[in-house]
Amino acid sequence: TPGIRPLVAGNWKMNGLRARLGEIKRVADASDALAPNCDLLLCPPATLTYVATTLAQDTALCIGGQDCHPESSGAHTGDVSAAMLADCFATHVIAGHSERRADHGESDDLVRQKAEAAHAAGLIAIVCVGETRFERENGETIAVVGRQLEGSLPVGATARNTVIAYEPVWAIGTGLTPSLEDIGEVHDFLRQRTETLAPGMRLLYGGSVKPDNAGAIMGVANVDGALVGGASLDAGGFLAIAEAT
Ligand code: PEP
Repeated sequence: TPGIRPLVAGNWKMNGLRARLGEIKRVADASDALAPNCDLLLCPPATLTYVATTLAQDTALCIGGQDCHPESSGAHTGDVSAAMLADCFATHVIAGHSERRADHGESDDLVRQKAEAAHAAGLIAIVCVGETRFERENGETIAVVGRQLEGSLPVGATARNTVIAYEPVWAIGTGLTPSLEDIGEVHDFLRQRTETLAPGMRLLYGGSVKPDNAGAIMGVANVDGALVGGASLDAGGFLAIAEAT
């Protein structure tokens, strides 16, 4: 979208031992060359956040978390707060990824609270929305995405502190993607819904983005970058997607 700087974000999910840190280093080393065209973000597992930000220090690569608790500290065994991510020099956090919504029963309201916690800690929230295969086949895509957006968009959202990622659940990790027309339809809708509230908000597409389809998808109107899962584990693949953006 003219005037909107693209963001290419990688979500490592529950993958990544220390042995994979070299991939982060490779992306960090290449990030300055890509910086004129897009922002680059990697979200490794929480165990690697601090060492990842150390590797990315003084480069154009940003490091983020994959989830955060709505509270900044307390009796929540196993959870990670936005304040903790910020303390490790993370700059972004994903809220409401479909795997969290499905595996942990996260509601739109909880996702909104997480995104608000991200803002309170000074992080950029990447709020995920997207329909299931069943919902798409029933013609409910726009209704579902609209409801998720309304319920999970944080109070005080601006183009600076919030990014929306449209990720059809059936396209994640499957090698399937919607047609360019279908991606465009949802992104046009998201633009229209966010424009009065937060003009210029970045709208990412996610779901089986690979180096060979990234150029076409990034060329769709109102697509301002990508949220990449599997293909972000390998620096070469992730950088190829960024180059295509
Ligand atoms: C994701 O998990 O956000 C994602 C889009 O995964 P993949 O690229 O592997 O489909």
